[in-house]
Amino acid sequence: MAIFTELKTKYADYRLNKINKLENSITNQIGSIKAAPTSPNKVMPDKLEITLKTLPKQLSIAKNMENTVKTLKHNPSDPKSTAKSEFIRKFEDYAHSIGMDKVSYSKVPQELIFKDKSILFDNAIILISEMDKNSVDMAPSPQTQEMGIVTYDDHGKKTNQLAEFLRERGYASHASHPAGGVVIYTWLAQNAGLGHVGKHGMLITPEFGPRQRISAIFTSINNLPIEESDNHSWIPNFCEKCKRCINNCPENAFVEDKSSETGETMTRVIKDLCHGCTICMKECSFNKREYAQIKSKFQNLKNRII
Ligand code: SF4
Ligand code: SF4
Repeated sequence: MAIFTELKTKYADYRLNKINKLENSITNQIGSIKAAPTSPNKVMPDKLEITLKTLPKQLSIAKNMENTVKTLKHNPSDPKSTAKSEFIRKFEDYAHSIGMDKVSYSKVPQELIFKDKSILFDNAIILISEMDKNSVDMAPSPQTQEMGIVTYDDHGKKTNQLAEFLRERGYASHASHPAGGVVIYTWLAQNAGLGHVGKHGMLITPEFGPRQRISAIFTSINNLPIEESDNHSWIPNFCEKCKRCINNCPENAFVEDKSSETGETMTRVIKDLCHGCTICMKECSFNKREYAQIKSKFQNLKNRII
């Protein structure tokens, strides 16, 4: 992509290596999205109709992933590194006005960056938007699939829009698309205090349970209002008792292993078995009942046992 040649000229400094990594990662991700509609392994017969129906959205996702890189050339060459609280409020108001449901902040630990991928700054703004509950509750269905793709596209466009908002006000930004990021979003969102990762590997939040899209913007703002919180650290204990996601997966795609080092049970999804039916999201206890209700019942139960 010609854009990378341009960026390499602009950032002929320590960021060159990061831009090379970005070029590889974005090119690979776009390749896999464009290939998906015709890949026999990825498209089941009953999904063909929805795949064709959502083709424009899928191409839009690919274009907006490309835009996360193309727009880097709009970054100011001498970006500002601090922001007043009024500016952060203004940013959050704008994010909410265009449909982002939650905004939070975190430093990015190195271990959350995917191998061979790179970010321009380790200051992250994490963005969340809700996935429609009615559509999730229809899983597995074409409607659920369509909603999933539409929200990826919508959330990705808004993430790019917010990165531009920052640039226009003197801050450098690197947007990361929800459909193919460079970091583990769920863990980053957990670090930012938005919720906790459940046994199914998705983020669980008080507002939307497991139903959200997540993206990030890496920015030159060094003084983001990061708040540490472990409000949701009770969730793994609840998951150990629940396991609805594991028990309801039609493909038995979940595997539980005991870590030889810590003795802890780790759950992972066998990628080749998972066809993205969304049943584990639908069946999650946090999609069935309110967060506060589950928390209070679980706490009462624990108190009675103790
Ligand atoms: S998306 Fe469907 S197949 Fe994949 S892990 Fe969840 S329930 Fe199992
Ligand atoms: S279904 Fe149960 S075990 Fe699975 S993530 Fe949700 S709460 Fe945890």
